[in-house]
Amino acid sequence: MTVQPRPLTGRLDQSSMRRANLALILRHLQRAGSGTRSRIALETGLSKATLSNLVVELIDRHLVREDGPDRGGGVGRPGLTVSLDGRAVAGVGVEIDSEYAAVSAVDLQGTVIRETEAPVDVVALGPEATLDRVARLIGRTVLSLTEARVHVAGITVSAPGVIDYTTGTLRFAPNLGWRDIPLVERLTDRFSQPFPQIALENDAKLAAIAEYASGYQQQGVEDLVYLAGQAGIGAGIVANGQLVRGWSGFSGEVGHLPLDPTGRPCACGRTGCWEGLIGLRALLRRAADDSDPIHDPRRLLEDRLTELHERAVAGDARVLEAIHDVATDLSRGMSIVVDVLNPEVVVLGGYFAILGDLMLEPVRAGLATRRMDDGSAVRVEPSRLGMTSTSLGGAIAALEEVFRDPLLVPVQARG
Ligand SMILES: [Zn+2]
Repeated sequence: MTVQPRPLTGRLDQSSMRRANLALILRHLQRAGSGTRSRIALETGLSKATLSNLVVELIDRHLVREDGPDRGGGVGRPGLTVSLDGRAVAGVGVEIDSEYAAVSAVDLQGTVIRETEAPVDVVALGPEATLDRVARLIGRTVLSLTEARVHVAGITVSAPGVIDYTTGTLRFAPNLGWRDIPLVERLTDRFSQPFPQIALENDAKLAAIAEYASGYQQQGVEDLVYLAGQAGIGAGIVANGQLVRGWSGFSGEVGHLPLDPTGRPCACGRTGCWEGLIGLRALLRRAADDSDPIHDPRRLLEDRLTELHERAVAGDARVLEAIHDVATDLSRGMSIVVDVLNPEVVVLGGYFAILGDLMLEPVRAGLATRRMDDGSAVRVEPSRLGMTSTSLGGAIAALEEVFRDPLLVPVQARG
């Protein structure tokens, strides 16, 4: 997510130079893949001697490994291949949504190594009981990684709301009914120290990071909007390859655009919000009576949505109409987002992706009718990461710390 750093030379003090150059090598391997020492030296601008010393340090921390020999076309002595070592370091991401909690762990190569999800009725439980459950999920994941001798670089927890980044406080999450919860502190207090550092981020922003890092960045897409179909509707914005937070973290709160002409009251305090038309609860309300088991928060959300999908495929007229109406209202609001931000791709996540085969065509058709010129065109794609994109983004964000400063990972015993 950051600009490729240049090798540091000159008057900087030795330790910051070493730190920055270790980060440079790690970031290079992440982007360009594995290579011989001489190739990496050439591509990063580091001298071969400096590179060799730094590679040894990274190997001691189990951040890179050397395999070989690589005989790929070169003349002379074949070199060993240096690659990111995925085995020993992981980031953990945790999503707290109004209906469930999900945990993902990702290793340094980007491979998902742990994934778990549990239904949690957050609104009914309230903050303390919810955080007890979330802490148990985190504790189990960290323990299982530690037992497997994997160093946990950090934990990023997400919530569907606005974050105060300096204090780790969830300022406002209308769909949880939570306000001013010092979430990082409350979670940290539940663990005995030392425990990996916990950070807090908005859910849609983390999902945007996950989508960007899992394919679009590699395709050269630099402007992307992730739109989450959950109880709330939030957007994660990547512009020019950077996550956009806005000055106070409020960017992407598009669910509260005034698009509902009936002026239905919203949990945010306003009336007539977009998410009152296309949020998960709006979809379920349109699709089935209140007594229908599809509304039961004790059931895993994915199962309820799968059932809804099955009903649509079986021709249930009310469900089909609900999905069609939501898709129409979705495209109406999306055209505003697209006009303001001009993204190359809009990724639809959450329930929009689960019902993607039924929603995408009406959404694309709705946008096409509003298109002024080829420049205002946008690709609309379903998330390929499913319901775990947010926790995945959290794990990727936690690993960013390692890519910024590899010395955060302690030297590890050989095993
Ligand atoms: Zn609202």
